Amino acid sequence: EWNNERVRLITQSSKLAGVRYDVRGPILQEAERLERAGETILKLNIGNPAPFGFDAPPEIVEELRRILPAAQGYSDSRGVLPAREAVARHYTELGVPGLGPDDVTIGNGVSELISLVLQALISPGDEILVPAPDYPLWTAQVTLSGGRAVHYPCDEANGWMPDLAAIESLVTPRTTGIVLINPNNPTGAVYSPELVRGFAALAERHGLVLLADEIYDRILYDGAAHEHAALHSAETLCLTFGGLSKTQRVAGYRSGWLVASGDRERARDFLEGLTLLANMRMCANVPAQYAIPVALSTGPGVGESSIEALCAPGGRLREQRDAAHRLLTAIPGVSCALPGGAMYLFPRLDPAVYPIADDQHFVIELLRATRVLVTNGRGFNLPTPDHLRFVTLPEVPVLTEAIGRIAEYLETIRVP
Ligand code: PLP
Repeated sequence: EWNNERVRLITQSSKLAGVRYDVRGPILQEAERLERAGETILKLNIGNPAPFGFDAPPEIVEELRRILPAAQGYSDSRGVLPAREAVARHYTELGVPGLGPDDVTIGNGVSELISLVLQALISPGDEILVPAPDYPLWTAQVTLSGGRAVHYPCDEANGWMPDLAAIESLVTPRTTGIVLINPNNPTGAVYSPELVRGFAALAERHGLVLLADEIYDRILYDGAAHEHAALHSAETLCLTFGGLSKTQRVAGYRSGWLVASGDRERARDFLEGLTLLANMRMCANVPAQYAIPVALSTGPGVGESSIEALCAPGGRLREQRDAAHRLLTAIPGVSCALPGGAMYLFPRLDPAVYPIADDQHFVIELLRATRVLVTNGRGFNLPTPDHLRFVTLPEVPVLTEAIGRIAEYLETIRVP
């Protein structure tokens, strides 16, 4: 492409057409612009625990410090053996049969593993069933890999539960995989064992790969129990994604894992492709891999700083979820399902009360008026412009201030 002065323009690849990731898009740029101008922004937009004072368990940081001198070289592309063994042992103890270290790949966070898996799996035109709303990396990476994300709706009136019959009606001969995010970002929904079993049965009936993003598996409230998809997927290929970013609060270490379970024999060709791509990027950050055995050996419920303690009554995450939910639902025309897991709230602004046509424009206006940064619902591939996503990581006084400012702003645009 040449411009009027006959200068050849450097343009982005056509592969990027339709790829969107609004969580870090134009809204964040506007926040950064305001910050450079000296403004203080209350950031309720990114699920990054450390800046909010959620320190990692000390034994994890200590292990990283200890291992640095010995972790200077590349590792096996799939990851160091102690990390892969620890992950295989962890899922074996949870009840997943037949796992060994060769079924585990360690990545630079779940993000990298999502990219590797979808690139290895998708041929042009393949369809992947993805929830709406979703964690938008899934849709973006399906699109970047040449596939088509086919969104299945989740029912807000029913605690954001997906309907398996509706999902099944979307399966076509091009469908190759189905994504399940449990506990869910952005809705916080935690799926029942029956529902998870239903996903596995559906994948099995249609020969689909079950892609289970379980990065929030230990962030659970009110006695909610998390059901691992791998427990029900003996007859289909199940790929489980987990990691340290959220449950161990070390998102900056970039450390996650992928477990392949179930019918791996049928998937041998795909798994070889995955290994090829893993080889091509050498390996994940090696020091951070050594945090995995430590994280998985601490077990649930150990220590005051454990994620379970933070989610229990009186724990910081639980108190903040409750406060934010109470404050938001007290605003006229705002409703919000109470999340059973994860670290987000996904409230609905009744369109009859707040007529928002373009929710991205709305959150930018909201940011300029209130200095509070949240993410718009369409950024999560929700079809309607009537939701916002809040992280529940800030302390209660910050949440109170931020939601108070939002309530004041909403009052100014409210239909009388
Ligand atoms: N999956 C979900 C559902 C997430 O919310 C996130 C981060 O917010 C990720 C995956 C990526 O996590 P990471 O790459 O830090 O492991």
